[in-house]
Amino acid sequence: MTFFDEMQRHPWARVREALMGCTTADVKQALSSTRRGIREMISLLSPAADPMLEEIAWQAQTLTRQRFGRTMGLFAPLYLSSSCTNSCVYCSFNTANPIRRLTLNPDQARTEGAYLHDQGFRHVLLVSGEDRKAVGPDYLVEVVRQLRPLFDSISIEIYPMKTDEYRKLAENGVDGLAVYQETYNTLHYDQVHRAGRKRDFRWRLETPERGGEAGFRRIGIGALLGLSDWRIEAAFLALHARYLMRRHWRSQLTISFPRLRPAVGGYCPPCPVTDRDLVHMLTSFRLFLPDGGLLLSTRESPLLRDHMISLGVTSMSAGSRTEPGGYTQRAGSDEQFQISDHRNPDEIADVIRGQGYEPVWKDWDAEFVR
Ligand code: SF4
Repeated sequence: MTFFDEMQRHPWARVREALMGCTTADVKQALSSTRRGIREMISLLSPAADPMLEEIAWQAQTLTRQRFGRTMGLFAPLYLSSSCTNSCVYCSFNTANPIRRLTLNPDQARTEGAYLHDQGFRHVLLVSGEDRKAVGPDYLVEVVRQLRPLFDSISIEIYPMKTDEYRKLAENGVDGLAVYQETYNTLHYDQVHRAGRKRDFRWRLETPERGGEAGFRRIGIGALLGLSDWRIEAAFLALHARYLMRRHWRSQLTISFPRLRPAVGGYCPPCPVTDRDLVHMLTSFRLFLPDGGLLLSTRESPLLRDHMISLGVTSMSAGSRTEPGGYTQRAGSDEQFQISDHRNPDEIADVIRGQGYEPVWKDWDAEFVR
């Protein structure tokens, strides 16, 4: 039994009906509840909750301060390769796009890592397109070996791997895995993933479980916002989160909220998500998962990110480049997507401090588990 089997018990149309059927009384009950399950989460995400967003946000702020204090983790993506064998219509790295591509060698990756280390980062997220030939398991082990002295925490956001391959990476110093399902709607999933291994919905869906079995300390999931109705995606994301937390309770679960950004190919999101929708979704997740890590990236505008510092987010990327070599070897590859917050890490840390929060560059040390 995996989350794929669990999903079969929740048809998309029935989840939509549940959301649409919620009443003001359901939302009030969810807001006054001390232990919130899926039923309460659906109430919080429903249209009936729209007029009560202020109350949801206030509770999210209170809960976040209780559980995490006034802190904000900072991390940076380090892109290793723009080579990809998949064809996702919303992404510049789509194999069908005639862009400039680059795969860093381990020395170049170390140069990028040294730049991020100088900026203050001690948590790095290694990102790549999905191409096993360009970014194989042995290559990754070598890159991690080079970066290990620079970072206390190394996460990966690459292609889905087998459990044994994840285990090998965990043994070599990778402690976090991020993999986004993009959409939990199988029909939409088919439409936007036109070629390559990524077309296998189930293989991707079960990836976080393989990561949990391999022993990653941190597992990140998310949906790409804009592909389908955000309320239904959020309900499935909540089901997925609950499933993972029950079975892989040793791993900290994090939720990301990536909203579609302009990319080569000019894909237009069929279900645009407004700033208010994003705030609604993120703050509802705080009420549902009081201890969950909630991440917001530089896809979002400075204005929105600044407002979200006190509303439930626990970690932010900063100063990001979305192309391999983007920090030190400009012009080798095109970027994956346009970012929206172009401020450098120091500027973002100043904003965090200005709101009475402490920027946290390091929240983990491998020595903790020795
Ligand atoms: S989203 Fe990922 S898998 Fe899809 S084209 Fe972009 S890099 Fe490749």
